[in-house]
Amino acid sequence: MVSKIGESMELKFDDLLTAAFFAAQKHRVQTRKDTQQTPYINHPLEVAKTLAVDGGVTDVDLLMAAMLHDTVEDTETSMEELAEHFGTRVAALVAEVTDDKSLTKGERKRLQVDQAPKKSDAAKQLKIADKICNARDIIQRSPAGWNNERKRRYLEWANNVVVGCQGVNAKLDVLVKKVIQDGLNELSE
Ligand code: ZN
Repeated sequence: MVSKIGESMELKFDDLLTAAFFAAQKHRVQTRKDTQQTPYINHPLEVAKTLAVDGGVTDVDLLMAAMLHDTVEDTETSMEELAEHFGTRVAALVAEVTDDKSLTKGERKRLQVDQAPKKSDAAKQLKIADKICNARDIIQRSPAGWNNERKRRYLEWANNVVVGCQGVNAKLDVLVKKVIQDGLNELSE
């Protein structure tokens, strides 16, 4: 069922699709923050696609973790449930990119910056792909009620997080820099 670390280069389509469907079920009543209320599942799908297509990632555990990365933070899903269905490595990867919701928003944001350099190489790539997709969303499908100043602050914070994640995947490093810079340029026009 679940790919072990040694086999993770081998593509496991059934595992990946099972993770995609699991995430779709968990997020099924949720939408993104944009005014068009894009279905939430578009986001994890885009993060997984960004890792595979833009980052050249073939580690299926990492692609599964990308599909599942917001299930614990934003839906009724436990780490134990992920470990049971998808293995301990996938669950651990999701744990690495899950904020502690008992903390204030400010603390969570500060911790993301502080903790980024200490993450595993796989989690660093996942963080970067997540920020690429969020930065694009902020500009192209703006969250309801966000003014340019709030968008600019988000992009600057995201940049501080990804700086701590650089050096693992050169393609993602280049892409995130471009997406954030393009966003900042657009806001200053
Ligand atoms: Zn995300």
